[in-house]
Amino acid sequence: MSVETRTLSAAIVLCACGTATVAAAQTDYASVRDEVDTIRIEARAQRFEPRQSVVAGGFPMHTSDYEVVAVWDPAGKRAHEAWDMSLIFPVPGTMQIAFTNNETVGIREQMGGLPGAAGGPMESSRIGANFKDLWLSNPILLLAHAEERASSRVDGDEGPVERLQLVLEDTEWLMEVDGTSGLPAAASTIENDPHSGRIENRIEFSDWREVDGIPFPFRLEQFTGGQLVRRELRTAVDVNPGSADSLLALDASELEPGDPAMRRWGWDMSHIILKRAGGGNIGNIPQIENVAFEEIAPGIFLVPSTHNNLIIEGPDGLALVDASWYPERSVTLLDRVAERWPEKQITYLILTHHHVDHTGGMRPVIEAGASVVISAKSAGYYREIFESTMTGSVRLIEVGQFLSLDETGREIHVYDVYTEHADGMIAAYVPDEKLLFNADLFSPNRPLQFGLWFDDLMNAIEWHGIDVEKHVGGHGAGIAAHPVDTSGHTMPVIRMVDPAR
Ligand SMILES: [Zn+2]
Repeated sequence: MSVETRTLSAAIVLCACGTATVAAAQTDYASVRDEVDTIRIEARAQRFEPRQSVVAGGFPMHTSDYEVVAVWDPAGKRAHEAWDMSLIFPVPGTMQIAFTNNETVGIREQMGGLPGAAGGPMESSRIGANFKDLWLSNPILLLAHAEERASSRVDGDEGPVERLQLVLEDTEWLMEVDGTSGLPAAASTIENDPHSGRIENRIEFSDWREVDGIPFPFRLEQFTGGQLVRRELRTAVDVNPGSADSLLALDASELEPGDPAMRRWGWDMSHIILKRAGGGNIGNIPQIENVAFEEIAPGIFLVPSTHNNLIIEGPDGLALVDASWYPERSVTLLDRVAERWPEKQITYLILTHHHVDHTGGMRPVIEAGASVVISAKSAGYYREIFESTMTGSVRLIEVGQFLSLDETGREIHVYDVYTEHADGMIAAYVPDEKLLFNADLFSPNRPLQFGLWFDDLMNAIEWHGIDVEKHVGGHGAGIAAHPVDTSGHTMPVIRMVDPAR
C-alpha cells in the first residue's frame, strides 16, 4: 500500500457511533488485528541515558542520534530493524546496526560501535527487548493484540482519560486513552531496573496521522522513572508494505536455539538494553559465566570482564571496588567469594561513580552486608534509591576529598577525582602496593583512551600527591605502570589480564 499520510483532525473517532468509548474502540482494534499483517516505520530519533548522567540523578546523558527503519510482523513475531547511528557518548563515532529475527533467534549485522561489539547471532535478551519496545512504541497494535483486563475512566486536568489495563505475553501494560479523541496518549509498563528494582517505562504519543485509515503516532517521547530516554519523529509509516517479506527473511538453520529465560530477562529490562543501543551489544548479557579472580598483586584480585572489579583482601575482610552491570553477576561473584574466602565478608563496596555499568550489580553485595563507599556528591541519589527500594538499613560511607578505610585490617585510601565524566568520581588506592583503581578515566593496557578524562585522573594524582606505581581500571587489561606517557597515553605493561567476555 502507499505511504500516503495525512494529519488527523481532532474530530477523529475510532468507532462509527460517534463517541470513542472503550468498547467501541476495541471493535475497531479487532479489524486492525485482522488487516495489519506488517508495518514499516521510518523515523529519526534521539537517545538519552539517565544512568549515565554527569550528576547522579541529574539530567540524562544524550548518547546518540539515529535514523531507523523498522519492519514488524506482530502476529508472526518477526522483525527487522536497521539503525544508522551517530554516537555521542561515551565514544563519538558512527554505527550501523541491523537486526533480523523471529521469536527466538536472529542475526545482527554491525559496523562500528564500541570495541568488542560485533555482528553475529542476536542474544535472546536483545530479541526480547526489541519486541517489547515495538509493542510499547505502537499503541494501536498493542491495543489490537492485547487482552483487556480492566478499564476505568478518570477526569484528568486536560479532560477525561480511559485507563486500560492490558495483558500481552504475561506482561501488564497500562494504556491511557484520551477520552476526547479516543487516541492513546501514553502506554507504560513496569520493568526491572538494576538501581531502582522496578521502574516505569512509559511512552507518550502525539502528532497522530492516518495511514490507510489507521491512526499512528508520529511523535513519541519515552521516559523511564520519569526521565527522558528517547524522542522519536516518524517520517513514514507503511501498512502491509510490499518489501516486508524480503526484509523479514531469516535463514535460521545455522543458528543455535534461543534461550527463553534470557529472552524474558531482556524483555523485562528492555529499557536498559535499548538505552545501551549506542554501544552495540555490550551489556546484553549478565556475564555470569566469566566471574574469576586473577591475583595481580599480593592480596589484590582483578575480576576481569568488559567491566572489571577489584577485590582487596585484608586480614579482617574484603573490599570490592565497583559492581558491574547486573545483580545476576554479583550473585555469582558472591558465591565465588564465599568459596575462596569462607571466613571473610565483603566489608566495603567502593563505587567509583554512579553510572549503571559500574554499579548495576550493587544490590546483592549491599544486601550481603557491605558498607557502601561513595562520593559525598552522590550520597543523596544513593540514599533515595536505597530508602525507597531496600528494606534493611544500608551503611553509607561518604567520601569528601579523601578518606582512609581500615576495617579490613588493610589500609585503603579513597580520593575524590574531579572529572567531567561524572560528578562524584572517586578512585581507590592501596598504599602498601601503591596501586590505584579508577573507572572510565584511564584504561590500562587498552588502546582506546579518553583524552580529557585521562588528564583529569593524572591531575588528581598530582594534586592529591598520590604515590602511584600501578594502575588498574574498571576497563582495560591488567596492570600498567605509572607514569603513563600523557601525550600518547602509552604505558609500560606490568601485567596483561585478558578482559574475558
Ligand atoms: Zn562512567
